[in-house]
Amino acid sequence: MRVHEKTLARSISYHGFGLHSGAEVNLTIHPAQAGTGIFFRRVDLPGQPEFKAAVSNVVSTVRCTALGLNEEVKVMTVEHLMAALHGLGVDNAVVELDNCEVPVTDGSAAVWVRLITEAGLVEQNRIREYLTLPGPVWVEERGAKLIALPAESFSVSYLFTSDHPAVGNQFAEYAVEPEVFAERIAPARTLGFAHEVEVLRKQGLALGGNPEIAVVIGTEGYLNEVRFPDEVVRHKVLDLIGDLALVGRLKAQVIGIRSGHHLNHLLGQQILATLGNSR
Ligand SMILES: [Zn+2]
Repeated sequence: MRVHEKTLARSISYHGFGLHSGAEVNLTIHPAQAGTGIFFRRVDLPGQPEFKAAVSNVVSTVRCTALGLNEEVKVMTVEHLMAALHGLGVDNAVVELDNCEVPVTDGSAAVWVRLITEAGLVEQNRIREYLTLPGPVWVEERGAKLIALPAESFSVSYLFTSDHPAVGNQFAEYAVEPEVFAERIAPARTLGFAHEVEVLRKQGLALGGNPEIAVVIGTEGYLNEVRFPDEVVRHKVLDLIGDLALVGRLKAQVIGIRSGHHLNHLLGQQILATLGNSR
């Protein structure tokens, strides 16, 4: 089946704060021409530099995925917005920001899903290109594994393991389609351990964080109400979708075991190396 590329029917805007930088940000997403992909533009910097949402533009994977040209010209925490654009089928858009980080909103992708859905999508005069794998591609690192298998469509399976009694091991498996994404994956929030939140604050990270925007886990159990019993693993699926969106539209069955932003990025690089492509 030939699918046409899509963009937003109109621009959307959001004002909020970055999770790690604490920065106040105005973000606007504009429709863009077919074949252009997703671009980020820093409108607060001289010359309004822009860069494509692509594996080759990843500048950091510590705690979040950051895209940019260098350490100064970058946008942090792109993964939840990228997942929403990818999951809902937006191929082309320009994301303008007046600061260094995508707002954390409620710690999930639900706000982006709502805004994109309200704006609506339009089909464009170009057939969407999918990436198909010639065989299995995998990466591993310190007990975490991530594998992509050739498939007819994009699906993600993920195993989250922990010895925390309240969280335990969680497994989730989803066909990544707009409705499934919007209802079952997008609302899952970032995970934070109470003791980690303190360490992050000392490092100057997680400045914009508060208990409402994360599933916070203390020694006894969850410190706030969860949206799904397995919200933690669903969020890991969300992160994985957002990070792999930088590769393109994959037709692959992706299986992750304890993987995070860094390994997600390595898989993206490995897939592109396998395809002989340097996007
Ligand atoms: Zn996340």
